[in-house]
This record gives sequence, structure tokens and C-alpha cells, in this order.
Amino acid sequence: MLNTVKGVKDVFDSDLELFRFIENTFVKISQKFGYSEIRTPIIEYTELFKRGIGETTDIVEKEMFTMADSKGRTISLRPENTAGVVRAYIEHGLFNNAGLSKFFYIGPMFRRERPQAGRLRQFHQIGCEVFGANSAMLDAEVIIYAAQLLENLKIASANFEIQISSVGCENCRPQYNKKLVDYLTAEKNKLCETCNIRIYKNPLRVLDCKEERCQSVIVAAPKIIENLCDDCNIFFEELQGFLKIANIDYQINKRLVRGLDYYTGTVFEFVCKEGLGAQNTILAGGRYNNLVKQLGGPHTPAVGWAAGIERLILALTNNKSDIKNIENPVKKIFIVIDKTIKKQGFEIFCNLRNNGIDINCDYECKSFKSQFRLANKLKYRYVLILGEEEAKNENIKLKDFDCGCETIIKLSELTTKLKNL
Ligand code: ATP
Ligand code: MG
Repeated sequence: MLNTVKGVKDVFDSDLELFRFIENTFVKISQKFGYSEIRTPIIEYTELFKRGIGETTDIVEKEMFTMADSKGRTISLRPENTAGVVRAYIEHGLFNNAGLSKFFYIGPMFRRERPQAGRLRQFHQIGCEVFGANSAMLDAEVIIYAAQLLENLKIASANFEIQISSVGCENCRPQYNKKLVDYLTAEKNKLCETCNIRIYKNPLRVLDCKEERCQSVIVAAPKIIENLCDDCNIFFEELQGFLKIANIDYQINKRLVRGLDYYTGTVFEFVCKEGLGAQNTILAGGRYNNLVKQLGGPHTPAVGWAAGIERLILALTNNKSDIKNIENPVKKIFIVIDKTIKKQGFEIFCNLRNNGIDINCDYECKSFKSQFRLANKLKYRYVLILGEEEAKNENIKLKDFDCGCETIIKLSELTTKLKNL
């Protein structure tokens, strides 16, 4: 017996309908906000993630699935999609296009993490990346876009909080880093082993550590949001002004740091208040003004976010069986065909389908009793019955299981009659 690999899942039936519902809702909203879809490969050169996400992040240090490619290069399954979209943006010279480039994406991501509720090794994200403007108005827009998505998914706004912060820019971050290193060095005995290394390699990462023993040090650490330069402060104020205009409720989370190195300025997370346990961040993102340049393109300010589909499903507060019906309209007709006239039956079956009727059959023309049993099991309300007698008279019988009534319909009028059911 062969099973799935640890931490991955098959998606089908009602779970798949929830995926579809989320994806379709996301596509509709994306179009409304002027985003176009981009599909990048799930494999990229490992170097892209090292340079993009950061060598000393958890993702790159221990969570990537990496394999050898020819000529000594390695490739990795993408752990997130910002780096890939930025690579595509540069590779295709999209910065030459007029105006902003606004992309949305949907697809699987891969991280070697300990599997648990809301945490998988292959998970799925929907997300967006916008290139070409350094503006608080744009940051507000991507947050509004995310909020509208959740509203359309009917995730109650009372059940999540929008947390925002700023992680500063190349002007204020170095000074803050120094302050942070000084503080952490003084407290280093209280920190875990990994954080002791992080202090010198990537001090901001300490603030994201999940180890129990590091928490008291993290809580009292200097906050980047209290050490911003004037430009970053003004930008952050402006963002809040725009969010207020759009009636978006938000909280400033002074301890918000993201697990990826590329962020500058605005960062945000949509955090569920209950039901998701420790995996309560459903959507996260921020601004990354230096990444395009860092990966070899011209200086291009950018902002984006990503949400985990599996976590959105956990957060759905509406009746999940209703969603099933929206995404999968009731199967309409089942046709029972007499074995002796299966050619004629198949012709009618094909014609009805070509005329837009949702139709099914048993494909084996077993006994009438067995075909009826299948129609019942599959919960069909309407069953067409093509027996020898009906076929001879160019007729077909329609049975409605709700009322138990039967009607004889002329084959020439069948499509019209079925469409009017
Ligand atoms: P976490 O703190 O939960 O590990 P993260 O900061 O690593 O999240 P991001 O890299 O910001 O997550 O990814 C954005 C979103 O993708 C998350 O908010 C979450 O909804 C989803 N996500 C991330 N990792 C996983 C995973 N292993 N399984 C399922 N969903 C995930
Ligand atoms: Mg993570």
C-alpha cells in the first residue's frame, strides 16, 4: 500500500469545492481591482530563494525541498511566490511597461515543516504582487483588496484582526539593528542557541523566534516602529489615513516582524481570533522596495501579500455545505437506457449534453432496476427512461422522484422541456 508523502494531501469532493470557491472568488475580486494572473514554475534555481528570501531565514535554512540539477546547480520547490514573480518581472523586462504591473497568482508552495493543523508541506496560496509605485495609497489598496476578499468569502470581520506595522527602510533599519544587537547581546544568556547565532547573522530574526525561553527578551526588545526615520513615519501615518477613509479597522502591532528578509516599510497580517490555534495568520504581506534591484532588475518599489488557502478554509465561518451547492450546481438528469437500444440511447445522451443539459448514465446499460438504484444513490431528482416501446414511438419517459410523477415527452421537444424544468 502506497500513501501520500508526509504533510501533503489529496484534494477532492467537498474540499475541492471549497478550494474552487476560494479561487473563483479571488479571481473575480482580482479582476475588479485590475490585477492580471501570472503563473510561474514551481521549481526555480535555489539561488533565487537564497538571494530573495534571505540566506538566514528559517525558510531557506531548513524548510526548502532542494535537489541537484545538472552542472552542479541546485533547484528548489518554491516555498513562496514573491521571489519567482520578481524573477519573471525582471526576466521579461516588464518594468518597461507603462504604469504599474499588478499580478495575482494561485498555486502550491512547499516547505519542509512539522505538519499539523493549518501547516502542510505542500500548501496552496493565493496572492498578489504590485510593481512600480512607492505609495501609501497603493499599500492601502492591497489591504483593502485582501479585506474585500475575506468579506466575499464571508469570513466574518469580527473573527479576524488586521495588524499593521512598518519595518523601516535602508535609512533607519541599520541604526535600529545596532540598537537591537546591543540589547540582544546584553540578554544573550537568556536566548536559545539559534538566537545566539542570529544576533550576529540576522538580529531581526530573533524577534520571530517561537522558543519559549526567548519570549521575555523579545517582548522587551526595542521596537523598529519606535525607531523609524521621518520618511517612514510619514508614510506609515499616511497609510493609516487611507485605511480610515476606506473604513478598514486595523491594529498597530509593534511586534510584527515577518519571516522573510525582503520587507521594507509597511508589513501586515490578517490574524484569526479563534478556531485556528497557533496557525492563526491567514494572510500576510508587505512592501519590498529593494527586492527587484537585489535580484538584478532596476530599482522598482513593490508590495504584495499571500494567503494560505487551507487556512482560509479553516477560517470560513459560513455554512460549508452551502458553498458546495454554489460551486457545484445540482446534477440534473440521469438517463436509464434499455440495453437493446444503447446506440439510440447514446445518441440522445450526446445530443442533450451538446445542448447544455447536465446529464449522466451508468455507461453499462445494466438492468433497469440497477440503473434506477444508481440514480437514487447519486440523488438525482429527474430520470429519463428510454425503453424499447418509447424509442419506437420517438418518445422518452421522464420521472420526477420528488412527486413520483411520470410524463411522456416527444424526443423532438426534449431539450426545451428539460431546460424548463
Ligand atoms: P507562519 O508564521 O504560520 O509559519 P509564515 O509567516 O511562514 O506563517 P508566510 O510565508 O507569510 O507565512 O505565508 C503566507 C501565508 O501562507 C500564511 O499566512 C499562511 O496562511 C500560509 N502558510 C504559510 N506556511 C504554511 C504551511 N506550511 N501550511 C499551510 N499554510 C501556510
Ligand atoms: Mg512559517
